Amino acid sequence: MVDHSTPRARGQGVSVPILCCPLCGSEALTLLFMVDAQRVERCGSCSLVLLNPQPDCSDEQLYAEAYYRGDCAVKDRGQENVLEPDRVARRLESCRGVLEEIEGRLGRKGRLLDLGCGPGFLLKAAQDAGWVVAGADVSAFATAHARDRFGITQVTTGPLEDVEFPEASFDVVTLQHVIEHFRDPVRMVQRIKRWLAPGGLIWLETPDIDSGRARREGPQWSHMKVPEHLFYFNQRTLTRLLTGQGFTVLTAHREVEGTGLMQAACGGAERARRFYEGAKRVPGFCAMVKVVRSANEFFRAGLQGESEIIRLMARKA
Ligand SMILES: [Zn+2]
Repeated sequence: MVDHSTPRARGQGVSVPILCCPLCGSEALTLLFMVDAQRVERCGSCSLVLLNPQPDCSDEQLYAEAYYRGDCAVKDRGQENVLEPDRVARRLESCRGVLEEIEGRLGRKGRLLDLGCGPGFLLKAAQDAGWVVAGADVSAFATAHARDRFGITQVTTGPLEDVEFPEASFDVVTLQHVIEHFRDPVRMVQRIKRWLAPGGLIWLETPDIDSGRARREGPQWSHMKVPEHLFYFNQRTLTRLLTGQGFTVLTAHREVEGTGLMQAACGGAERARRFYEGAKRVPGFCAMVKVVRSANEFFRAGLQGESEIIRLMARKA
């Protein structure tokens, strides 16, 4: 494990350069490019990408209501209003897919913590599906939304680096676009491991710095968000981060657009969803869907370089 001796507190008037890679300890940090006069560096040894020095501004200011409504005061780089009704419906639908994938690996439903839960989409979908849920987020606006609009009772408000839970209190911890915001991802993974029961799962998704789009667009990439994103991962660095703390990586997927086959065949998204709900009990159907999805992912992400998000699931040993 690497010693993190560099102070990196946001909102305390401290902005000190990071001298060695927080993931592998190498000092070979070199400039990748500049974004808004700030250095984005890559570790020559493990390929971790980071903002260096890391910014000095408070999490509470950064993730107020404006962040979720799309007029972020710090910077609006295409951040959309995530609370617009159509988008809420789409997010809930995509969360149901995530939960299905997790349940497939866990073999059952259980206790789920969504760290950085935002307005509570995943919590709402999970609670409706029968999971026991808890969430945490730095934004008081977001947690109030989760509580008042989605009826989630167990939601903690505060900086994620300070929240605490009893040992082994969850079967699953999810992080949707959160790990890139942590000031100390290694320490956070250690803490998450403590909160997980033996055999528990961590599921995360984050922008992939090695994706086709990230490589093509460089500093213009829409996920190159300064100063919110402090680290940028690829499959290699995510795997190193997790296995270094005793996790076994189970799956790694790229988020790609669907084939549209089922919708075309059924005549619309809602009909396709109802068909899928019924058909997934038919032996062989899920296996077939899996094959089509893998082929689609390989084609769009691997060959066409269309993907920009990576999803990883790992098990606590
Ligand atoms: Zn490194």
